[in-house]
Amino acid sequence: MLLTPLLVVLAALITPLQDRAPRSVHSVSDLSQEFTFYMDGRFHTQYLKDVGRDVRNWGSLHRLDLSNANLLVLSEGDPHVPYSDASIDHVERYVEDGGTLLLMADGGEAMPPGAAVAARFGARLDVQRAATPARFATAQPADTKLEFRGGRVFEIGLAWTPLVVDAKGEPLLAKRRHGKGWVLLGSRGLFGHQPDAKDPINAAWVTPLLVELAGTKPIDPKRPHQGPFAEHAREIGPLTLEYTDGTQPYADSIAKEYELVRPHLVALTGVEPSAGMITRLLVLPTGGGGFSSGERIAIAAWWGDYPKQRYPMVELIAHEAGHSWVLPHPEPLWNEPIATYLGIQVGKRMGMEDAQRTLDAQLAAGRRHDPDWTKLDPLAPDAPRDLVWGKSYFVFEELERLHGPGALAKYFTTKRALVAKDRPRYTMDDCVAVWSRALGKDLYPWFRSLAFPVESTRSDLGR
Ligand SMILES: [Zn+2]
Repeated sequence: MLLTPLLVVLAALITPLQDRAPRSVHSVSDLSQEFTFYMDGRFHTQYLKDVGRDVRNWGSLHRLDLSNANLLVLSEGDPHVPYSDASIDHVERYVEDGGTLLLMADGGEAMPPGAAVAARFGARLDVQRAATPARFATAQPADTKLEFRGGRVFEIGLAWTPLVVDAKGEPLLAKRRHGKGWVLLGSRGLFGHQPDAKDPINAAWVTPLLVELAGTKPIDPKRPHQGPFAEHAREIGPLTLEYTDGTQPYADSIAKEYELVRPHLVALTGVEPSAGMITRLLVLPTGGGGFSSGERIAIAAWWGDYPKQRYPMVELIAHEAGHSWVLPHPEPLWNEPIATYLGIQVGKRMGMEDAQRTLDAQLAAGRRHDPDWTKLDPLAPDAPRDLVWGKSYFVFEELERLHGPGALAKYFTTKRALVAKDRPRYTMDDCVAVWSRALGKDLYPWFRSLAFPVESTRSDLGR
């Protein structure tokens, strides 16, 4: 149920039950400043899985309870969500009280928000690229490997101890005491990044370093530490919008877009969203990536360069909300295409030119596989994605052309009336039965002419 390049299921939202053996590190990986799948568990898998328990922070950083955590992992963040002064104050107090902060950050022509966190501890991210090879600043056992994937150096004051430097001796990883705790600042290129966690570079020395520094603050291993969820929630129609202080500006606009989108969805489908289908929409602090489950959808706050570009966000909101109209019986074959088709139709009704372009492009991509739509069975296991999507759009367009206006609304109205909530399945045979009832014509021959292997005898909904 997702339209983003990176796709995982809701399971990602739920901190897995970890085993009960005591661990010396209670880490918090922050997702509130910038959502990445890497920070959502991969960092922990690579460096802490045998020594620590990790929770993810989805809520505003300054509200995070760090009392029983001894390692806070921060990324450089995204310019759309600066680190607030309150959050930086909160992090500083946590370090003063004995906690360890790991900040993975690199400077750039545009400085990332993490530069403000580094600055609080007397370090300055720099635009200067690191000269390779990188090396350890202090003597290490001979077989200790150092891997560095490139990045920028930074400037540090006398309170800092460099641990890894570039070929010119400029720091790439450094630590300092601050109050009772530690700050560790490192270039992102010293750590893994694969979403499947298969590149735990430098784990042989990063893990012991994290354990040693975090050990400065004792934690109660029997008491779970906190990984709160986004703290704000707002009801918007069938959706509960969830967001943090940092994503609030986007949530406000997304709520407004939804209010514009909703009446179009009702007009297009002829029905209200399915009763009891409460869908939570989490505003993720990212421009790409997201995930979806039956209950909760997470979407990128600045998706498609929103709010500069509006159409991609309108399509996305309509798509995700559209699932709430379709349930409790997901559509066969075109459950995803029909959601985006609804988004396209909403966009057209809102006068957005990108909507027709999106439709035309997908139809053209489908025709490359099946020029007159009569040859390829879209239900075949090896049916190309573009064929499935293009043929789905063609069917919706053609049914509207032949049986409109309002063919889709007739279909949804009939489906709602005809298909019992507890029906165990809803097949393409059933779907064509509903279309036939809705439009007052036996549509099985027409669908078969488009290479859909459908039979009225396999559905009880036509009678
Ligand atoms: Zn979807």
